[in-house]
Amino acid sequence: MRTLPDTLSLIGDTPLVRLKGPSEATGCDIFGKCEFANPGGSVKDRAALFIVEDAEERGLLKPGGCIVEGTAGNTGIGLALVGNAKGYRTVIVMPETQSREKMDTLRALGAELVTVPAAPYSSPCHFVHISRRMAEETEGAVWANQFDNVANRRAHVVGTAEEIWTQMDGRIDGFTCAVGTGGTLAGVGMGLKAKDESVVIALSDPHGAALYEYYANGELRGEGNSVAEGIGQGRITGNLDGAPVDTQFRISDQEGWEWVRRLLDEEGLCLGLSSGINVAGAVHLARALGSGKRIATILCDTGFRYLSTLHNPEWRAAKGLRP
Ligand code: PMP
Repeated sequence: MRTLPDTLSLIGDTPLVRLKGPSEATGCDIFGKCEFANPGGSVKDRAALFIVEDAEERGLLKPGGCIVEGTAGNTGIGLALVGNAKGYRTVIVMPETQSREKMDTLRALGAELVTVPAAPYSSPCHFVHISRRMAEETEGAVWANQFDNVANRRAHVVGTAEEIWTQMDGRIDGFTCAVGTGGTLAGVGMGLKAKDESVVIALSDPHGAALYEYYANGELRGEGNSVAEGIGQGRITGNLDGAPVDTQFRISDQEGWEWVRRLLDEEGLCLGLSSGINVAGAVHLARALGSGKRIATILCDTGFRYLSTLHNPEWRAAKGLRP
């Protein structure tokens, strides 16, 4: 056991756990990187810390300054906790469709929260564009720009990928996860490929997102109907550009939900839907690679963030998720 010098040191160095059900179902060893163990409860704390420290190093963020971002919520929570620890204000623009728990957490952290109706990326009213304009109009503000700012994926090259490689003793056959910004997939993919070119990197795309078609056929096409928060991307973001993707799977919300349910019932682990989609993807990858292989994926955030949505039977019924 060790002590840490400050709260920001709680970000990263997360445990890697063998998932019994998925491993037994495939004859492989499937491991989950416990990103819910970050202080803000999600994988996005890593990107938030790297984005803020990059802005400081480049002289864009000065003492008492302000961080503005458009986010499905988790990046906002990460930015707010990093901002509080370093003395910056945070202004977060978030679509109304995201869980109440994430909004309440942001308010509890003291972030200034602006919720906006969901709009397509092509509309000037999309939350990302609103946040960019707000940053431009605010004195002393920086726009975190998590989708195209590659400080995001650097957090996963130097952090997440290095940790997975060390935790698996350099014996890893495959890695998979879904994409929101692409920081995790691209960063972990690049980091692991730099260690061993033969590690298979797979995209696990929620049903209806456009990236599956892009990596399969070179065409960005999808109607975007998944209810998973934080994932599902319709363009090649700056962070995804150059991501070493070898293969791709398309995962339905139902399949992701069934893995969330099994991990909760059989292993006592309460996760969000993107983690379930990642675990489902790891099962597909295990079956594609054959038994005996060692595969890692990301357990992105805690299910306690979705008690009013995914873990609420009425919400699930309304979204068509079956028991
Ligand atoms: N799962 C959840 C719950 C998230 O909030 C995010 C980030 N939007 C992701 C997965 C995807 O991570 P990334 O942005 O690195 O692609």
